Parts: sequence; structure tokens; C-alpha cells
Amino acid sequence: MAIKGVFPAALDDPYANEATQPFWDAALRGVLTVSRCRTCGNCLLPPAPVCFQCQGEAFEWVELPGTGTIYSFTVVRHPLRPDLADVVPYVSGVIELDGTQGAGCRMIANIIECDPDSVRIGDKVRVVFDRVSDTYAVPRFTPL
Ligand SMILES: [Zn+2]
Repeated sequence: MAIKGVFPAALDDPYANEATQPFWDAALRGVLTVSRCRTCGNCLLPPAPVCFQCQGEAFEWVELPGTGTIYSFTVVRHPLRPDLADVVPYVSGVIELDGTQGAGCRMIANIIECDPDSVRIGDKVRVVFDRVSDTYAVPRFTPL
């Protein structure tokens, strides 16, 4: 069923690998996590085998508060597929995640439960997880 402003999940499973499965396991628990370099503390999202900042290869998963700031966004008003006609307008944003440091972590996500015309760069948001199956919870963000 189409919900105005909510981009429908295209998948029903994240098809994760061993490097990304912890993120999706946490998402099912309603927790936003990130892979953090044990050497320099840089956070990598998505996780990578080598830190781009210090070339370290040891990482740990840390829980984030789930809040963030809109770094950039766009309002999609034209349905790119016929089945999106009832979904537009929707907001797709780049969210800078609280609890990360340095270059930080930015996540592209659907911003829901908002008036698309009132969304602004710098607005505070928090993550919400849209559970679409037993294995997949889609992270979206909503205004604080
Ligand atoms: Zn590092």
C-alpha cells in the first residue's frame, strides 16, 4: 500500500554479508549502529575492511543515539514509476549522524512524517525503523 511521503522498500531482505549483517541485526532491534575504527575512532558507514583515515583494520560496532542533522535533502515531486504516484512528494535526505566524529557518518534516507515544504538543512531528526520483513528493517528519519 502506498503511503504519501514514504518511499516503499524495494527489498524484503538486506542481503547482507558478514561485514554488514551487524548493522541489520541492530536495525531489527531498533538500534542504529556504526563500525568504528579501533585505532583512530573514525566511523565508517557502510563498513569497510580498511579505515580510510588511518588504514587501520580493526573495528568495533558502536550504538549511536539515533539522532542526526539534515546535511542535504531533495524533495521528489515527480513519480519516477507509476506506482509512486501516490507516494510523491517525498523527501530523500543526507543525515549527519550524532555520535560520530571527524568526517562523521552520513546516511541517505527517506525523511518521513514531515511537511516536505518545511524541511530545512540543519533540522534535527531521529531514526525510525520500518520493519518490512523478519530480516529487514529500513532506517528512515523523522523530525525531532
Ligand atoms: Zn582509523
